[in-house]
Amino acid sequence: MDRELLGGFDMGLNRVFVVGAGISGLVVAYRLAQKGFRVTVFESQDVGGLASSYYIGEMRIPKTNRLVLSSDRKTQKLIKELGLWKRVFWRPLKSGIIYEREIHPLSSPLDLLRFKLINFWDRVRFATFLLRTILPLSYDLSKLEGLSVREWAVEELGQEIADKLIEPLILTKFGLSSDQISAAWFLDRLLSESRTRIRNRWGFIRGGIGQVAEKLAERIEGLGGEILPKTPVDEVVIKEGEVRGLRVRRGGEEKFVEASVVVATAPPPALCEMMPDLPKELSKMLRAIRYAPAVLGCYLIKERKRGFVWLANLDRDSSFGGLFEIPDYLEGFSDTLGASSVVQTTTYLESEGEKLWRMSEEEIAEAQIRDIAEIFGEVEVVWRGIYKIPHSLPIFLQDLPKVPQKTEVSGLYFAGIFTTLPRSPTMGLAAESGERAAELVAQDLKPQRPTNP
Ligand SMILES: Cc1cc2nc3c(=O)[nH]c(=O)nc-3n(C[C@H](O)[C@H](O)[C@H](O)COP(=O)(O)OP(=O)(O)OC[C@H]3O[C@@H](n4cnc5c(N)ncnc54)[C@H](O)[C@@H]3O)c2cc1C
Repeated sequence: MDRELLGGFDMGLNRVFVVGAGISGLVVAYRLAQKGFRVTVFESQDVGGLASSYYIGEMRIPKTNRLVLSSDRKTQKLIKELGLWKRVFWRPLKSGIIYEREIHPLSSPLDLLRFKLINFWDRVRFATFLLRTILPLSYDLSKLEGLSVREWAVEELGQEIADKLIEPLILTKFGLSSDQISAAWFLDRLLSESRTRIRNRWGFIRGGIGQVAEKLAERIEGLGGEILPKTPVDEVVIKEGEVRGLRVRRGGEEKFVEASVVVATAPPPALCEMMPDLPKELSKMLRAIRYAPAVLGCYLIKERKRGFVWLANLDRDSSFGGLFEIPDYLEGFSDTLGASSVVQTTTYLESEGEKLWRMSEEEIAEAQIRDIAEIFGEVEVVWRGIYKIPHSLPIFLQDLPKVPQKTEVSGLYFAGIFTTLPRSPTMGLAAESGERAAELVAQDLKPQRPTNP
């Protein structure tokens, strides 16, 4: 193994090393830097991870994370702390379902009562359930442990809703049947969306939500921390129950970096690859968390279509699973770009073996533009981006393990949304897990320089 230290960087045993510069990794590094720790963050791709952006001139368009949920207090607090609050604006987002190429609105209880795909009394039953569960503002998810979405839906909402609505929604989301997916995750997601919908406010940041990651990175560097994008960690070296170092790749070269404290935030499938010497139980736990690959399309279009909408697509023969149209991303840039709206698609896949994953970017764009036009009418696309994510979200199988953030390996900590299961992932949960990991590290170690305010 190459024992040479990374040229040009102040590496060594006095640092905390963070793997992954998504929101959780950046928050860990920021909180530790504030506490006086020296930090280095290795990121295989771009800073921000799922919160990174496309840059078109001076404009940012989110690649993945687009919205701040009104129920996500943690992200709102972070945005305030980073001085971005005055750029936040709120919009009502209409939502609905695409079925047989037609849009069926589903934004309000009234829409639900008018929803033609299921019979009237089942619609009333669903609406009553939502009111009964949303209003107390808390729901004991532990009651649902061991229950699948299907079992829960049949019992609570009836066979027809389970078959005609819930099953296709889950298939669209994960490519898996609803009897494999955890009811606790589904309820967490349903209730947080329904509560956001009551206020009907979804938050956006003028200039792009990618500024959250950029500001975090700026603050870390301002406190003396290092962030190294395009620097994948190939291995976290563990010997005799403790962290000994990292093998990283930078500029085509592989280097060994001595390390005694590592906070790993990459998704579990990547962690399993980079940590072959994890204790058996921990490795088994991480292996039990499967992730869905996803394909995300982004299209700048000439004419606005439906405005602020989120549509889940139940048509299984379509080239995308869900679609947003969010015109205000382009505010101030429409004239220069010759576009007035943005349409973004999200398609979760069961595996990288699926056809959409194997298609070229041109083929994906062509198929998606054709399918969008079938629903919205002709679209003229002036710019497009396709983003393939090998590990996007955990598949919320039943009985997912609770991964500890401080592990039995001395010096190894975890942060990331896989430590918050079965809660439905948000930027706020990623930030929360980052803060918890920073606290755990700080309890175990002393900072190496005076604490910054
Ligand atoms: C399609 C989609 C849309 C979403 N939209 C929203 C939204 O609108 N609002 C919201 O609040 N939440 C949203 N979420 C959830 C949100 O993205 C996450 O909760 C959060 O951003 C995840 O942050 P993270 O740091 O845990 O993970 P990530 O952002 O995945 O960060 C992990 C990082 O580790 C890096 N990495 C992996 N392997 C290595 C390696 N070997 N070496 C170094 N680095 C490595 C990855 O490149 C990545 O940058 C969305 C999620 C998805 C998938």
